[in-house]
Amino acid sequence: MARAGGMREQKITLGEMRESGPTRLLVYCADYRCAHSVTIDAGQWPDDVRLSDLEPKFTCRACGHRGADVRPLFAVDKPASGYPAHG
Ligand SMILES: [Zn+2]
Repeated sequence: MARAGGMREQKITLGEMRESGPTRLLVYCADYRCAHSVTIDAGQWPDDVRLSDLEPKFTCRACGHRGADVRPLFAVDKPASGYPAHG
């Protein structure tokens, strides 16, 4: 496998994400001062779409910023009371 050297993080495709478990995405506003986030179902996009391909498509509903940070949403396999706290 050719590893393109560089500082840029290469994001996985939706297919790779679904193989590892998550089927939903956590989308953060790219403006860190806003940090609004939403969860969306990734089922509407095909497997060969990269998370980084989706990032420019989002516009923040809270502040109107164009562009987002998209990450896999790993299922929380704990009871409702075990919801992760914000760090
Ligand atoms: Zn925002």
